[in-house]
Amino acid sequence: MSRTLFEKIIAREIPSTVVYEDDLVFAFKDIHPQAPVHVLVIPKQPIPRIAEALPADQAVLGHLLLKAGEIARSLGLEKNGFRLVFNNGPDGGEAVPHLHCHILGGRQMGWPPG
Ligand code: 5GP
Repeated sequence: MSRTLFEKIIAREIPSTVVYEDDLVFAFKDIHPQAPVHVLVIPKQPIPRIAEALPADQAVLGHLLLKAGEIARSLGLEKNGFRLVFNNGPDGGEAVPHLHCHILGGRQMGWPPG
């Protein structure tokens, strides 16, 4: 099976600005930031998207969410708030088929989202 762009980023074959890494997840700055802070948090195991996650992925997904909150706090976003986004499939705007949580912050977000 071909490797995703994000697997190549985890392997440092494609450079990125790493924000956090542990055994289960990897976080790096988005190359086209949509807010003053825009970080992607991804599982090291390549789950394609949230709709295809399995019960066996529960621990890694829980860990990913806890780390997203910790990373947001570490980037100073706790006071004013931030947004977490998981794009799923074509209507969701998903471009990379490797599950990722967008952490967006540093500006007022709009609702409804575009
Ligand atoms: P999606 O649209 O799939 O939810 O989000 C994919 C994200 O990956 C986009 O925000 C896009 O800017 C980011 N991205 C795509 N290619 C690269 C890359 O090579 N490096 C980094 N750091 N981000 C990327």
